[in-house]
Amino acid sequence: MRLKLAAYKKKRDFKKTPEPSPKIKKSAKKNPLFVVQKHHATHLHYDFRIEMGGVLKSWAVPKGIPPKPAVRHLAILTEDHPMAYAHFHGVIPEGEYGAGLVEIWDHGTFTNLKKDKKTGAEIPLKKSFELGSIELDLHGKTLKGPYALIHFKDKEWLLIKMKKKSSKG
Ligand code: MN
Repeated sequence: MRLKLAAYKKKRDFKKTPEPSPKIKKSAKKNPLFVVQKHHATHLHYDFRIEMGGVLKSWAVPKGIPPKPAVRHLAILTEDHPMAYAHFHGVIPEGEYGAGLVEIWDHGTFTNLKKDKKTGAEIPLKKSFELGSIELDLHGKTLKGPYALIHFKDKEWLLIKMKKKSSKG
């Protein structure tokens, strides 16, 4: 289990950075969390993180969250982050990994939308991740509604805002 955050740990000196230490959380029954952090690093980007298996699966999105459907934004898979990172904001000092201001841009919970087309059964998030096709309904302050993450190649994914299905009746 510790291996999950090994990359996170290796990149950071916790005596120097105010970021959370690498702890894996036991899965709770509450709705899973997501967070979007605006990260003023060498290159401004947005970090999109979703709770999965006791850690935050993380993508760096240079152009930010797509504002409307059919716009695809490149999302680069980065190392898993500890759950406590969902509440982290502050300044990573000069010379440390990811130096710069981290702001919480949005946060909330999400529900997994991915269903087996034949049976209608929910596909576990981890499975969707492995298959490279994730669909989430975000319940944030700014972000509300369905978004998809589609694996493209290597660490490159595409973040897409999906069209809301019109609810009739
Ligand atoms: Mn970042």
